[in-house]
Order: sequence, then C-alpha cells, then structure tokens
Amino acid sequence: MTNISKEKIENLKSKVKGQIVLPSDSSYDEVRQIWNAMIDRRPALIVRCAEADDVPQAIAFARENGLEISIRGAGHNIAGNALCDNHGLATPIRINSTTGIAGLTRGGGFGWLTRKYGMTVDNLVSVEVVTADGKRIRASENENTDLFWAIRGGGGNFAIVTQFEFKLHEVGPEILAGLIVFPFDQAKQVLTQYREFVKSAPEELNVWAIMRKAPPLPFLPGDVHGKEVVVLVTFYIGDAAQGRKLIEPLLRFGAPHGEHIGAQPYTQWQKAFDPLLTPGARNYWKSHNFTELSDGALNSMIEFAGKLPSPQCEIFIGLIAGAANRVPADAMAYRHRDAKFVLNVHGRWDEGTDDERCIAWARAFFQASAPYASEGAYVNFMTEEESDRVAAAYGANYDRLAQIKKQYDPDNLFHLNQNIKPSP
Ligand SMILES: Cc1cc2nc3c(=O)[nH]c(=O)nc-3n(C[C@H](O)[C@H](O)[C@H](O)COP(=O)(O)OP(=O)(O)OC[C@H]3O[C@@H](n4cnc5c(N)ncnc54)[C@H](O)[C@@H]3O)c2cc1C
Repeated sequence: MTNISKEKIENLKSKVKGQIVLPSDSSYDEVRQIWNAMIDRRPALIVRCAEADDVPQAIAFARENGLEISIRGAGHNIAGNALCDNHGLATPIRINSTTGIAGLTRGGGFGWLTRKYGMTVDNLVSVEVVTADGKRIRASENENTDLFWAIRGGGGNFAIVTQFEFKLHEVGPEILAGLIVFPFDQAKQVLTQYREFVKSAPEELNVWAIMRKAPPLPFLPGDVHGKEVVVLVTFYIGDAAQGRKLIEPLLRFGAPHGEHIGAQPYTQWQKAFDPLLTPGARNYWKSHNFTELSDGALNSMIEFAGKLPSPQCEIFIGLIAGAANRVPADAMAYRHRDAKFVLNVHGRWDEGTDDERCIAWARAFFQASAPYASEGAYVNFMTEEESDRVAAAYGANYDRLAQIKKQYDPDNLFHLNQNIKPSP
C-alpha cells in the first residue's frame, strides 16, 4: 500500500473534472474490476479522467508520488459501433461490442470489416495524446510522424491517447450475417473446404471458423446443445441476395445441424457474441498468426477442440486476408502483413480450481500448433507472461520503436503493457 496524504488527494480532486476512486470508497471494487476475472489488482487510486486535461494531472500526481501508471481503456465498454448507428458508416473494429477501442487500436485491431478495409490502425487518421512529460500533442501523417508510426500497433507504450480520429466507410446499415453449425466429426472436411473457399471469396465476405461446445441456440436441436461443433460464422457487406448466393456453397461442406443467417443492422451483429463474452469469467488466451492453414495446423486444432477442458473454451480461426495484406510491413508499428488468419486459443472457465487444468490445455495446444504458424504474434491477444514475445511481435520494427520510446518515454513510465524498452 502507498500512503498518500489526504491533502494531496484533495489537491488532485480540485484539479480534475473526473472522479477519484480510493480503496475506502464503496465503488472501489466495482471500478477496479476488469473483464478478465483472473486479474485482481488493487490500485492505490483510480482517476476516471473525464476530459483530456485530467490526464496530465494524473500523470504528474503519479510521478510526484512514485506510483505505477496503468492505462485503462473503456474497460471493454466503449461503444465504438455507435459511429454507424445513424449514418451507415463504420471503421474496422473487433467482433463484439464490448472491447475498448483504445486498447484495440493500440495493438492493431481486426474484426468483420478487416478483409475489406484493413486493420483498425490502417484507418487511424490522427490522435491527440498526453505524453509521459504531461504535454498534450497531436500525431498524424503530418504532425509528430514518428509518434504516429509507433502508436499504430505499439500504442500503450508511448503516450495516453485522449482522442482517436478514424476513417469511416459506408457499411450497411444492414448486413447479412449468421452461423452454420456442423457436427464435430465433420470438422476435417468442413475446414479443408473452408480453407479452399476463402482463397477466392470476395473481400466483402468474411467467414470465421470456431470449434467449441454448442451454446443453447434456439435453431439447433436440443440434443446438440453442449456437444462439440464446428461453426462457420459468415458476414457479408453488400446486397443480401448476392450474399446468400456466395454463402450457399458453405452449407454443403457437410450436413449442418442447423443454420441461422439473415439481414440485420451491423450494430446488432456487433453485439451477437456479447452473451458468450461477458465479463467476470476466468480467461487465458494464446494466439498465432498463419499465412496458410496447413493439414498439420488443422489436425492440431481438431485434436485439441476434441478435448475442451470447459464448456466455454473455444478455438477460433479469424480470417483477415485482404486489405491488411496490402500495407507494407514497415508502414507502422503493426507489421504482420503476411498474416491471413489469426488463431485464438480461448481458454475460459468460471472456477479458480480449474485454472491449472484449463491453462495447461491452452498452453499444450499453443505448443502443438506453433510449428505451422507464421512468425510474430498479435500483442492484443498476449497474456501477461509473454513479455519474451514482444520483440518477436514487432520484428524488424522493434529497433525503431525502441528509439521512439526513448524520445517520448525515456523513463519507461508507461511500462504496464507489452513493453517496448527505450533504446540505450
Ligand atoms: C471479449 C474480447 C473480445 C475481443 N475481440 C477482439 C477482436 O475481435 N479483434 C481484436 O483485434 N482484438 C480483440 N480482443 C483483444 C483486444 O483488442 C484487447 O484485449 C484490447 O487490449 C482491449 O482493449 P481495452 O481498451 O478494452 O482494454 P484495456 O484493458 O482497458 O487496455 C489495454 C491496454 O491498452 C492500452 N490502452 C488502453 N487505453 C489506452 C489509451 N487511452 N491510451 C494509450 N493506451 C491505452 C494500455 O496499454 C492498456 O494496458 C478482444 C478482447 C476481449 C476481452
């Protein structure tokens, strides 16, 4: 515990518009909670910045009192998709609605629109930030260009972003999307056909593959609920009738248990997976990038999906092939421009007593699938103990990042992240 005098806290309160939450406050436990129930930390104090001017005050206070700084996005709750609520406009964001836009953008960011419009960072136009020395500056292709280069993938290391400006694209408002659910014993035939299909599918169409135990979805027969299944998740921006034609062949990859595909508002689809990703569960994730899905990769996915250690664990293959592959690897900090698929081993369960068993499963699968993966790693899916993979994640961009870090944060004030150390 750090002892900070009442006077100092009252002084900080008088300088910021946002709320200051202390361990003695009744809201403290609620406010310090984050999405993953495995993380249980007790900050000395939480500043809920209400405006950009609060950020330099919080940084100065932490410096003066020798406190660690951890930056929190919207606690996985920024409504980024509100952008397209009324205007039929959107930028590529994640696949659900609750993940914060700040943390997402910091590491790259991909979702349903990535095939067509690239990574979230590819659509970032400018940022307003507060630097480690408390200065408020802007960065873009024209101002503080080094910082802008670094923030697009190395975000949390360099400054606290108080404003993002994104390029928007016409999307919807309605899109065609939904699920096709196959029996697990058809996994190999479904996934090998999937791998061929996506090679020539237009970028307006995205299809992800998920292996997990079937949730109690109303369109599935009752006896399928809770059994292992392979799910193809489809998403199409464009004319719904044309989308249906494109999706048709997927239904013949096997004999589906059921399908549920329909036209719906993009904002509604962004929330479709929220019920499976609610906060409060224990989570342990691992991830690889792939340039292709070899037989070896598919076999290891199917093997480990056949021994899921909890009903909430899953293995998913996210398709990102398209616009993101056309950006040069040194255009910004995020560099995995050869990645066509992102694999996430999503370990998720409820009880602390299951930690060891579920983590062991995720680690074993991660090891087994590693030989088929491409180089590098996606920092947004890294767990805490993977700091040795940070340099690999940035590859040839790492040295430039370390130099920019030295310029903007020479004391490594912002180090509670996938840390890039200032160059000596
Ligand atoms: C349920 C779920 C679904 C996900 N789906 C996807 C997906 O579809 N696609 C995808 O690409 N990723 C996905 N992710 C991963 C996600 O991108 C990362 O977990 C991301 O870090 C979350 O951002 P946040 O702001 O909510 O997190 P936080 O925990 O609030 O922040 C994470 C880190 O980001 C940095 N940061 C946050 N705010 C700022 C700021 N204002 N300025 C500078 N740095 C900041 C800090 O370093 C902080 O430690 C998902 C994660 C979850 C839990």
